[in-house]
Amino acid sequence: MKSYVTMNKEELTNLVQELQIQYDHFKSQGLQLNMARGKPDFDQLGLSKDMLDVIDSQSEIPNDYLNYGILDGTLEAKEFFAEMLDVSKDNLIIYGNSSLNIMFDQISRGYTHGYMGATPWCQLDKIKFLCPVPGYDRHFAITEHFGIEMIPVPLNDNGPDMDVVEQYVNNDESVKGIWCVPQYSNPTGTTYSDETVKRFASLKPAAKDFRIFWDNAYCIHHLYSDKQDHVANIIKACEEAGNPDIVFEFCSTSKVTFPGSGVAAMATSKNNKQDILKHMTIQTIGHDKINQLRHVRYFKNIDGLMKHMEKQADVLRPKFEAVIEILDKELSGLDIASWSHPLGGYFVSFDAMEGCAKDIVNACKEAGVILTGAGATYPYGKDPKDSHIRIAPSYPTLDELKQAAQLFTLCVKLVSAKKTLESLH
Ligand code: PLP
Repeated sequence: MKSYVTMNKEELTNLVQELQIQYDHFKSQGLQLNMARGKPDFDQLGLSKDMLDVIDSQSEIPNDYLNYGILDGTLEAKEFFAEMLDVSKDNLIIYGNSSLNIMFDQISRGYTHGYMGATPWCQLDKIKFLCPVPGYDRHFAITEHFGIEMIPVPLNDNGPDMDVVEQYVNNDESVKGIWCVPQYSNPTGTTYSDETVKRFASLKPAAKDFRIFWDNAYCIHHLYSDKQDHVANIIKACEEAGNPDIVFEFCSTSKVTFPGSGVAAMATSKNNKQDILKHMTIQTIGHDKINQLRHVRYFKNIDGLMKHMEKQADVLRPKFEAVIEILDKELSGLDIASWSHPLGGYFVSFDAMEGCAKDIVNACKEAGVILTGAGATYPYGKDPKDSHIRIAPSYPTLDELKQAAQLFTLCVKLVSAKKTLESLH
């Protein structure tokens, strides 16, 4: 295929006309597809349905679990998540159904009461958070909600640019945290290298209440059994570096069993845990211990959990491969875009020519395919290059997905050809 950047005016004009006809044809089909959010599809949800039969009125359930109490979670749930995250159960708090909820609470606690005796952020003039970009829009929404200034940091193949991170964290006392999705990151699929994890653990924060928000949402979400990333253990790395208190690690079973009805957990130092429980005891008398028990009885141990994740991957993998195959086939060699080939997680990350992402997303929308809003993966929804688009292949059926990906590539070509033509005028 011929690179668009080598085409002359006439070639580009003809190309735009041809692509426009194809686009109008797609539009007339009245598609209604959604590749916007990383939601599991019904086959994936079906994989966990028999978990609902694990506990019924005849089941033996400790009385304590039926009642109020057990603030930091049941013993077997702590043992289960300890295996999943490779940490001690003493480092864990088991919560309710959502890890995002825990993250919101942690920011909220920093804001209103402060961590371990530090001044609450609401009493300070300026609070800043580092945001590796592109990143998870809901992280950025939380910090924006609290009026925290967000500073974008480039996310490279090995993780965030650590020179930039160290420069800010080690010198600026108003920098109180950083958002990280360290394995199969949302949306780029990046896994942080061992060196990056080491540098995180060895930070020397100017602020004593600086915390790394280590959202390990995709820690067991591999697409392949033979090609996998495994991010190094941040809790251990921080302990070894003599910095045990600088990290909060989050995870959940939202994309393991049922989003909205899973179990979420946080791992952190014993000092942080004690401090958090002091606040939590005011907030709640305990979370849903029956759901915690249901999950542990269903999976039994890490082997049961990983077998289940292989079934999840069997549903997801063909969808990722279908999207990537269409991108490779339709767009390779045109010099108008690049895209990720992730080994896990929930997203394919797409970089269009500068100044094209919004137009591509709009063109898709007009033809009936909804994508995540352009810019959503940047703080304040502002992608300075207007080039990044997040593709979420999980929710549509395979056939729908192929149609949607085909339309997407057509929109990329049409918008890029128009843009290249404009640049020649
Ligand atoms: N963290 C990341 C990086 C995510 O991508 C998502 C969901 O897409 C979540 C957290 C949400 O997790 P939960 O369902 O546990 O609140």
